[in-house]
Amino acid sequence: MSLMTHLECSRCGTRHEADELQTVCRKCGKPLLPRYDLEAAKKSLTKEALVGRVSSMWRYLELLPVRRKENIVSLGEGWTPLTPAKRLGESLGLSNLLIKDEGLMPTGSFKARGLSAAVSRAKELGVTRVALPSAGNAAGAMAAYGARAGMEVYVFMPGDAPRVNAVECLVTGAKVVKVRGLISDAGKLVKDGEREMRWFSVTTLAEPYRVEGKKTMGLEVAEQLGWKLPDVIIYPTGGGTGIIGMWKAFDELEEMGWIGPERPRMVSVQAEGCSPVVRAYAEGKEECEFFEGASTAAAGLRVPKALGDFLILRAVRESGGEAIAVSDAELMADVSEIARLEGIFACPEGAATLSALRKMVDAGRVDHDDSVILFNTGSGLKYTDLLPDEAPIADPKKPFDYASLRG
Ligand SMILES: *Cc1c(COP(=O)(O)O)cnc(C)c1O
Ligand SMILES: [Zn+2]
Repeated sequence: MSLMTHLECSRCGTRHEADELQTVCRKCGKPLLPRYDLEAAKKSLTKEALVGRVSSMWRYLELLPVRRKENIVSLGEGWTPLTPAKRLGESLGLSNLLIKDEGLMPTGSFKARGLSAAVSRAKELGVTRVALPSAGNAAGAMAAYGARAGMEVYVFMPGDAPRVNAVECLVTGAKVVKVRGLISDAGKLVKDGEREMRWFSVTTLAEPYRVEGKKTMGLEVAEQLGWKLPDVIIYPTGGGTGIIGMWKAFDELEEMGWIGPERPRMVSVQAEGCSPVVRAYAEGKEECEFFEGASTAAAGLRVPKALGDFLILRAVRESGGEAIAVSDAELMADVSEIARLEGIFACPEGAATLSALRKMVDAGRVDHDDSVILFNTGSGLKYTDLLPDEAPIADPKKPFDYASLRG
C-alpha cells in the first residue's frame, strides 16, 4: 500500500493534507510534492519483494500516492525497455549508450505514467470531471485514463497541436476545444472555466500526482541497472515533470539506502524555437522567463514557461548537468538516424536527446565509457505527418528496375 504521509511545498516547505483534493501551495502557489514514510518503505519495498511484482510502474506502490489498489486506473504503463544502442553508440564513439524507450507506453508516450497516477488519485478523492490544457500527448493520455475511470474529460489544446492528439481524445469521448494560441492560453481557459464547470484541472505540476507517475522513470532506470545510476541522463524538457520526477526518485532511493549520494548528470534538452530553460540556465537565473513566439515541430517541448522551472534548473545544476538547445532540423534528422541504426522510431522530442548528445561529444563533455541514457519519450508513430513517405512506384505491367533500389 501507499506510504504517502503528506504533501510539501517545493518552494516554501508548507505542509498540506494529502487526503483531500489539492492543487498548488496555498501560501506561495508553487507545486506540491508528495512525501512518504521512507523508513517503512525500506521494510516492505525490498529488492526481493520487487521480484514478483507487476511489470508496470505500479510495482512501486509504496512510493506512489494511491491508497487503495482498486482505485488504480492502469493500462499497463511503465516498465519500458532500457535498450542498449550499440550501433548508435559506436557511431558516436561511445561504448555504453542506452535508450529508455517510452514509445511503447499506452497512448504512445510517457505521459501515460503521469496521467495514470493523477487520474487514479483523483478518482480516489471523488473527482468525476477532469480538464487539461495540453500541447498534445498529455491530452491523449488523460482522455484514455479518464475514459477508463468513467470520468468526463475536457481538453483545451493549441490549434496547431498534432492532428493525432485531437483524434485520440475525440475517439475516447473527450470534449476537445482547439485554442487559437499557445499552451499558456489553453491553460487560462481551463482556469477560467473552473467555477462554472466544476472540473478538476490536472495541469502539469498544478496538481501533486502527475510528477509521481513520472518519478517511476527514475525508479525503473535504477532497478534496470541493478541499483546503479548511469553517468548521464539526457531528457527532452517541456513542463519538466520528467526531470523533476526522476530527481525526486533518486533522493527517495538514497534515503531508503538503495543508492549512494552519486547522481547522473541531468541534461535538459529543448528546441531552439522554445528554450526557456536553456536561456535561464545560461544566464544563471533561478526561474525562466516566458519564451515569446515559441515554435517547434517537437510539440511536447513547446512550453514557454513551466510552473516547476526552478525545480528543473535546480536538478540540472545540482547534478552537474547542463541545458542544451537543438534545432528542429537537427532533431528531425536524428529521428531518422535512431531509426536507421537501432530500429527505434523515436518521437522528435526523443530524437532531440541524440542531437544534444552529439554536441556534448563534440565538446568533449562525455567520456567514451560513460553510461548515457537517452530518453525517447514517445512513439514516432504519432508524428508521421512530419516525415516523408516518397517511394518509387512499380507498375506490375512493366519490368521493374531492381538495380535502381540499390542507389
Ligand atoms: C510532454 C512531452 C515531453 C516533455 O516532458 P516533460 O517531462 O513535461 O518536460 C517530451 N516528450 C514528449 C513526447 C512529450 O509528450
Ligand atoms: Zn509554498
